[in-house]
Amino acid sequence: MKVRTRFAPSPTGFIHLGNIRSALYPWAFARSQGGDFILRIEDTDVERSSQAAVDVILEGMAWLGLTHDEGPFYQMQRMDRYREVIEQMKAKDLVYPCYMSIEALNALREHQIETKQKPRYDGTWRPEPGKTLPPVPEGVQPVYRFRNPVGGVVAWDDKVKGRIEIGNDELDDLVIARPDGTPTYNFCVVVDDIDMAITHVIRGDDHVNNTPRQINIFRALGHEPPVYAHLPTVLNEKGEKMSKRNGAKPVTQFRDEGFLAEGMVNYLARLGWSHGDEEIFTREQFLQWFDLDHLGRSAAQFDEAKLRWVNAQHLKAMSDEALAVHVEAHLKQRGIAPDARLAAICGLFKDRCDTTVALADWAQRFYQPIVPDAEEAAKHLTDTVKPAVAMLAKMLEGGEWTKEAIGVSVKETLRATGLKMPQLAMPVRVLVMGTAQTPSLDAVLALCTREQVLARLAAMPI
Ligand code: GLU
Repeated sequence: MKVRTRFAPSPTGFIHLGNIRSALYPWAFARSQGGDFILRIEDTDVERSSQAAVDVILEGMAWLGLTHDEGPFYQMQRMDRYREVIEQMKAKDLVYPCYMSIEALNALREHQIETKQKPRYDGTWRPEPGKTLPPVPEGVQPVYRFRNPVGGVVAWDDKVKGRIEIGNDELDDLVIARPDGTPTYNFCVVVDDIDMAITHVIRGDDHVNNTPRQINIFRALGHEPPVYAHLPTVLNEKGEKMSKRNGAKPVTQFRDEGFLAEGMVNYLARLGWSHGDEEIFTREQFLQWFDLDHLGRSAAQFDEAKLRWVNAQHLKAMSDEALAVHVEAHLKQRGIAPDARLAAICGLFKDRCDTTVALADWAQRFYQPIVPDAEEAAKHLTDTVKPAVAMLAKMLEGGEWTKEAIGVSVKETLRATGLKMPQLAMPVRVLVMGTAQTPSLDAVLALCTREQVLARLAAMPI
């Protein structure tokens, strides 16, 4: 049997890290099993769904390389199909019309709460042999309720949570069609999972309560339910459930902040799954190792410092040329057109950066005027060293423009002035790069143009 998984987001807000993890795992499972991954947009909450939210889903998935084999299917475009199944269920007596008014339902609910019973529909309109139903009120469109089985349990072996059993008596008869005939959420999910031949449902554990209801509908429609894996919640850094309401960023914002897709996939993979002690791995390794047996059982907590560390490892491992492509995109957004030096600049600075934005901040100094840090300038640019800086500038006017030749000029200046390397290197870095905290002086200068270095040294306050 071919594995078929799906990601079924509701586009009611911008998907965040916690949401996209529910795409990563089913995607990885399908890929690792040679199966198919299906994207389904659950947009039936018309009021709260938006195209902008769909766009973030599509962009975020494309960025992370979570490619789908089928879809995106939009539930709003499948309404005819749901209505067709509702008709079939009516014909088979799997559903029945219920005319109970909202007021009567509310009164029932209040009474149940007062008398400490679980609020649930009481089956007034459920036809049973020998039972007389109330008279059908005139001019009222009924809802249709699913005839939930009576007695017994619904059970499944959840790949994360283990065996779960719910008594059917805990479940009341779910409304599957509203008075205007529109289908309801749990019903659409089941029709889709059947039509899309989903074998494994991997989703957030906020859906555990829906699962027994969905399983009953599966069986009523003559299908065995898929395998379920309900992923524990992702918490934010404060330990609250991650949600856009408490400030979770759209996943695409991490891209804009300079995180690499490789780093992000690695970080997300570990947020609820493990392979021994492996912390840093490639996408290929992840797909080789991923399974449903090592999903974590407890809530995972987002940790930005860890994400930055993981990203930094991937940044270091990436080729200078590949990094340059990312950095160029950031620079272009800032109106800067870099040149052939960019890859080498990336190579020189990548060890000290955890995002490509940080790398672009360094690269920018090679393409745009810099303002030396005032404090650092005051500290390093003393009257004792100024003549040495001027001497070095003079020497750099001629000769070859290579790291080696620049290194020789630096050494000669040190010899002639009796200064130590840091005494000369620090002020020169401040003047040329704006800060004293840079990689080795000769390498940095060699990546600048001669004109740039001479102009920046000449700007030394006398
Ligand atoms: N649309 C649901 C959500 O965004 C997911 C439904 C499912 O995976 O079954 O939470």
